[in-house]
Amino acid sequence: MNDQKLLKLSQKLASEYRVTDGKKFRLKDFDSGDLGPLKDKDKDSAAEWLQRGTELMSELQDMLYAQDRWGVLIVIQAMDAAGKDSVIKHVMSGINPQGCQVTSFKQPSTEELDHDFLWRCQKNLPPRGHIGIFNRSYYEEVLVVRVHPEIIGHQKLPENLVGKDIWKNRYKGIRHMENYLNDQGIIVRKFFLNVSREEQKKRFLARLDEPEKNWKFSAADVKERQHWNEYMAAYEDAISETATKESPWYIVPADHKWYTRLVVASAVIESLFSLKLAYPKVDRSTLADLQAARATLMSEKDSTLVLMIAGGGSPGLHVAKIRNFRIRPLQRDSRSRVGRTYVRSHHQHRLVRDLRLRGRGCGHCSRAFVLDDSAQTDRSTDSGTGRGERNRPR
Ligand code: ATP
Ligand code: MG
Repeated sequence: MNDQKLLKLSQKLASEYRVTDGKKFRLKDFDSGDLGPLKDKDKDSAAEWLQRGTELMSELQDMLYAQDRWGVLIVIQAMDAAGKDSVIKHVMSGINPQGCQVTSFKQPSTEELDHDFLWRCQKNLPPRGHIGIFNRSYYEEVLVVRVHPEIIGHQKLPENLVGKDIWKNRYKGIRHMENYLNDQGIIVRKFFLNVSREEQKKRFLARLDEPEKNWKFSAADVKERQHWNEYMAAYEDAISETATKESPWYIVPADHKWYTRLVVASAVIESLFSLKLAYPKVDRSTLADLQAARATLMSEKDSTLVLMIAGGGSPGLHVAKIRNFRIRPLQRDSRSRVGRTYVRSHHQHRLVRDLRLRGRGCGHCSRAFVLDDSAQTDRSTDSGTGRGERNRPR
């Protein structure tokens, strides 16, 4: 599958689950067991598709990082056991960790409760060029807190601000922040992993049955499950109030983990692609700097070893005797005092000895010497075991 085809498929898949207009949103219109155009038997080919998808994502992320203009915030919300962790692990597996941060939001700390509810999230927003993933987010403030309004009591809010408008005001705060981020070049993409109550039960039981999954089980999660309908109502309201064209929600079917990953990957690819990312173009003066740097590097390479032929004779003759070294005539403008003296002197051999050059006769001809690049400066005329030593002919 080439990139174009992959992109088209991703766009198609992502658009199935994207909500850009909250007013029309009803959670019941989205099936948590949906497999879109795929069937159960497509699981293996979906894994290949995901693999190609993560490679493409990695290429796009590389450009995002190099361009250093846009930032991408990915918000992942879900009921327990819907697969948040596994989505982050699999979908982001191709992403360079240097340009990506994952932040998990748990119950707020004392310090966090001393601030407005967006504070702890704002502290962790992705910088330009980066992808930031929120594993839970400020949306908890209109989800768990709405289902358990007693939590508000710990939030140290002034009394007259805790009234009937509290949720409306929180949605407004969230909308404003997301608009602001969007205007600043930090795009926001929100994912609700839509798992069914039955599938959650299966996964909880698996956590109890399989010893290697025991650590994931929490009795509190089972208790929380009793509030399923209230959570669904809170999700429906939150999504309706905050889904916009600029900051859409994706209602991702989450009963089949392999399909969940594919949809999330598709939406991330599609979002990155929509930014029309490109590697930065360098201006003329930078281009000249690059060329100068190239020249410096190339000359370094050329002068790693300099075979200097004293007096006459065919250079080829010496090369035949000393394998692996190329001949470079000493240039007139060479800064090498040692080299010039050496070439011009009648007493080359003695001079070379006197200057204690790190050179050596070719073994067949006393007029050939090999010097390393550092021999072009006076500093290197001491005999030592520097870099050139390794490169000498044997
Ligand atoms: P996992 O269970 O896979 O480790 P998790 O996100 O469920 O992931 P937990 O430590 O089990 O992590 O739960 C975190 C809890 O913190 C959740 O129950 C969540 O609702 C709660 N939480 C997050 N943000 C807030 C908040 N602002 N106010 C109150 N509770 C919150
Ligand atoms: Mg949990």
